[in-house]
Amino acid sequence: MTVVKERVQVLVIGAGPAGVLAATLLHRAGIGVRVLEKARFPRFSIGESLLPQSMAFLAEAGLLKAVNQAGFQYKEGAAFGHQGRYVDFDFRDKFSPGPGTTFQVKRAQFDKLLADEALKQGVDIRFGQSIEEVDLSVSPARIWARGEDGEPYQLEADFVLDASGFGRVLPRLLDLEIPSGFEPRQGVFTHVVDNASEGFDRDKILISVHPEHKDVWYWLIPFSDGTSSLGVVASQAYFEGRAEQDNEALLKALTFEEPGLAKVLAQASFEQPVNCLKGYSAKVSRLCGPGFALLGNAGEFLDPVFSSGVTIAFKSASLAAQTLVRQFKGETVDWQADFAAPLQAGVDVFRTYVEGWYEGSFQDVIFYPEPQPQVKQMVCSILAGYVWDKGNPFVAESRRRLRALAEICRPG
Ligand code: FAD
Repeated sequence: MTVVKERVQVLVIGAGPAGVLAATLLHRAGIGVRVLEKARFPRFSIGESLLPQSMAFLAEAGLLKAVNQAGFQYKEGAAFGHQGRYVDFDFRDKFSPGPGTTFQVKRAQFDKLLADEALKQGVDIRFGQSIEEVDLSVSPARIWARGEDGEPYQLEADFVLDASGFGRVLPRLLDLEIPSGFEPRQGVFTHVVDNASEGFDRDKILISVHPEHKDVWYWLIPFSDGTSSLGVVASQAYFEGRAEQDNEALLKALTFEEPGLAKVLAQASFEQPVNCLKGYSAKVSRLCGPGFALLGNAGEFLDPVFSSGVTIAFKSASLAAQTLVRQFKGETVDWQADFAAPLQAGVDVFRTYVEGWYEGSFQDVIFYPEPQPQVKQMVCSILAGYVWDKGNPFVAESRRRLRALAEICRPG
């Protein structure tokens, strides 16, 4: 029998980007918040290339200065390569207002930095604490957790924010998971000492497309210490049809099938283990309900191709914190209208372009040799993460605009 120990206003599950940002914003607004995080930091996480839009959220929580000073790799854009063609998008030349540069980060370091800065601000974050059960049928909600000593304990909270990422605590407990609509895909990745060839632009993420299979693509994310994150993404069916026996052989073989990447990485040394993540796309039937909201990957995760994950995680945290602050002030809030709908609107814009990428229509737009400059700025805004800027026609009417533009850009 567990004894109720304490009551908090808001309990946050997980201290990744979504959880720490939400908790910091709430703490700064004077709301009693506790974060319980299963792991000890630093811990590995995938998701290393940030988008400029995310800088605005770090500023909102007073975390930007520390990030700016941490020595992370500066990032000012994205480069795309396919069959010898290279196209650059410089985020500083975008349509939407807001920051035009960002960073590429080893997440072990980045997530620890954010958590340390939040702790310095006075946020209550406890590591090595795993949430196991949540009862939202009562108010306050009851939460069962277990510390590293193995002892279970119970908490009460007026509101629960699930920021557990791929842990997906509430979606599992409340049976909220639904199919994502994307074909199951897989990422195989590692960190390499890149010894990159001369002229390689470290200030941009490089997205390369396989010479024959347009739905097989690679990321190369340079860090400031001479290493890079290298990964390849393809459908699970494609990987299953390959002859290589292990992840390392698979990653090496696929990397050197792409001539541009083979050139950049000709002298690279693979020293770290090669990891694999399968079927990561996730969706839920609802993002909020009585007493809870889902943040970041605990809600919806689309696809890694446009590095949208951390930006969406931050946006969800910012919207949830704003809604909770109003709720604790006694204002009437509508979680669907104030949190879920605006969040979903931007996620759906990303969805349009992710689907377009795999269908090929958005690749035709990206690799089009004579883009109209203002259209390129609008597309650049999407790639920089400004998917909530309704002033951009490619946000406001994403499907119609992409369809029309793809017609113009289709080869031949
Ligand atoms: P997380 O960062 O996953 O944090 C969740 C935290 O919750 C973890 O620390 C975990 O230990 C904790 N937790 C889990 N269960 C429990 C529990 N029961 N109790 C307590 N704590 C718990 N995004 C980008 O922005 N850029 C990229 O370049 C990028 N590349 C990607 C490549 C791949 C192959 C994939 C699959 C994803 C990529 N992403 C990228 C997405 C990115 O990884 C996520 O969107 C991002 O980490 C989500 O942040 P989060 O805070 O929601 O969750």
